[in-house]
Amino acid sequence: MRHSPLRNSQTRYVGRLAPSPTGLLHLGHATTFWTAFERAQAAGGKLLLRIEDLDTQRSRPHFTAAILEDLAWLGIAWQLPVIYQSQRLEFYRNALEQLLRAGLVYPCHCSRKDLASMMHAPHEAAGDVDDERVYPGICRPPLDLSQPATLFQAGVNYRFRVSIPKHTAIHFEDRNLGPQRFVPGVDFGDFLVWRKDDLPSYQLACVVDDAETGITEVVRGQDLLKSTARQILLQRALRLSSPDYFHTRLITDENGVRLAKRHDALAVRTLREQGSSAAKVKEQGIERSCRPV
Ligand code: GLU
Repeated sequence: MRHSPLRNSQTRYVGRLAPSPTGLLHLGHATTFWTAFERAQAAGGKLLLRIEDLDTQRSRPHFTAAILEDLAWLGIAWQLPVIYQSQRLEFYRNALEQLLRAGLVYPCHCSRKDLASMMHAPHEAAGDVDDERVYPGICRPPLDLSQPATLFQAGVNYRFRVSIPKHTAIHFEDRNLGPQRFVPGVDFGDFLVWRKDDLPSYQLACVVDDAETGITEVVRGQDLLKSTARQILLQRALRLSSPDYFHTRLITDENGVRLAKRHDALAVRTLREQGSSAAKVKEQGIERSCRPV
């Protein structure tokens, strides 16, 4: 570990677990959540549990129940109450309004299908599994976006994208993986902050919640490094300070393929049913995360 998890003697460590209830927890989640738990404990801090249940198509209450049970079985403890993003919509709407007032977002009429036919698949370097393509800027207004926004009408279902400042690199020091650098306009484009179904994107909801619940360090998988860069941009746009980041290495299956929720064989539940102990699951996660990705 490079640094002590404490930021400074005044700030008490607050971490979070942020699972999406769209499937069962697998070995990769277990390892990330163990790391988050251990870091919060080592710092004498708190660990919140936030259920990221904004994806109404894929979130299921039985996955939430399974996640809570699996986390408890793993021996991970968190502070109550559990936070549900689906109950926090007013916070996200306020943030969207703030971005609109600052002229930093614009409505986008491109459908996912339009974009898929127009854009190439994202460049995937080793370990880079980001799935949001670089938006080609079709709806980006050529106007000066510092004008007060007149676009927002409550209840109108628009997608909104943030207008990124292109080519100014985002740098951050990851507490596990070291210095990171991403270039807006190259590594990612104008990304969505609001969806057509009148819900915030993952990026916006995450930034708002991390700030509003006083998170001092985010522990998450390496697959979210580019999202961290996007979120740092959003924090700047919303005048929020950034937490520290600790990205855990990806876990792969026996063929070197990154674990996904479809890897049922490595679901915590399956390993448990096969007689593994929580300690054994942890050991297996550590062993697999050492493989090169
Ligand atoms: N909910 C996200 C996931 O399960 C993680 C979000 C985060 O750690 O910021 O992939």
